[in-house]
Amino acid sequence: MKNNTIGIIGGGQLGRMLAMAAARLNFRTVILEPQADCPAAQVANAQITAAYDDEEALDRLAELCAVVTYEFENVPVGAAERLAARLPVYPPPKALEVAQDRLTEKRFLNDCGIPTAEFRAIDSDEDLKAALADFGHRGVLKTRRLGYDGKGQKVYRGPEDSPEGGYAALGSVPLILESFVPFEREISIIAARGPDGGLACYDPAENVHRNGILHTSTLPAAISGATAEAARAAAESLLERLDYVGVVGMEFFVLADGRLIANEIAPRVHNSGHWTEAAAIVSQFEQHIRAIAGLPLGNPQRHSDCVMTNLIGDDILMVPDWLKTTDALVHLYGKTEARPGRKMGHVTVLSGPARR
Ligand code: AMP
Repeated sequence: MKNNTIGIIGGGQLGRMLAMAAARLNFRTVILEPQADCPAAQVANAQITAAYDDEEALDRLAELCAVVTYEFENVPVGAAERLAARLPVYPPPKALEVAQDRLTEKRFLNDCGIPTAEFRAIDSDEDLKAALADFGHRGVLKTRRLGYDGKGQKVYRGPEDSPEGGYAALGSVPLILESFVPFEREISIIAARGPDGGLACYDPAENVHRNGILHTSTLPAAISGATAEAARAAAESLLERLDYVGVVGMEFFVLADGRLIANEIAPRVHNSGHWTEAAAIVSQFEQHIRAIAGLPLGNPQRHSDCVMTNLIGDDILMVPDWLKTTDALVHLYGKTEARPGRKMGHVTVLSGPARR
């Protein structure tokens, strides 16, 4: 591989953990990120400090690397395509295109035979009023693009929640209304595909969100074997349809009867897969590096039950206690300022041999 070097677009904690996994396999990493001294660059070999769509910076990245990947789904598709004309970019830019727009994403999932909430494109209050009437006055209004951690969303709980002004409240940008899913729990699955088409899936995690941000991921999820199998099958069909290379994260709602409704896909390593570094032999980060470097995929089997807890904002003050906790693996992201809602680190506590 050219200079044994992997390019990573995006300099946050996911890029940091990818760079650490890459180093363990003797790869060098170069981070493209506008913010200097970002979490990923602190542990990488070099940083190109520039905007994600800076053409000169992209060309420099292409010169330095054998393969380029990314750690967040809002990488401009044009930037990924510019790179893809010169070297392999994994996951394929098509995966970015699908994941960047909730409307495209839902249509794509449905085309793959994967159920989602019902949805309507919303471009005005009139659209919103009509769609809410169709959905029994309940639904979740979301921006089609650039939403994350529950940002850019509004919940309609019944006729008392007026649609008036809803379009403007979310910024008068293209929106989507989703029918309200009466889910019992939320799960996610992390899966990988290699360039030879080989697949590896981790066990599904059960996720709890607080204020729209992932709080905990628990393994095993309280779901039946059939539901776990359905999550695996959905992830595998998605990976195959996209001719995907790398790790994907896929989030689902679980209904009372065990049926799955897909919520989101993340064409990258995912927060709900952080447990893999403590409770699986090969973490999602190493798995992604293996996949994009054309190495054999690692064994995704889970050896322990565990709970991963995100350290958000001031939770970082609890680190001294976590460090004294038996069977806890603490992972911090090198961020100096603990703003509210900011992911500062995570901790995974092992709770015994894996039950299935
Ligand atoms: P998202 O940004 O799409 O992951 O949504 C954030 C959180 O809002 C999800 O984890 C759910 O807890 C909730 N949520 C999102 N969409 C729906 C829906 N259609 N029905 C019910 N709850 C939802």
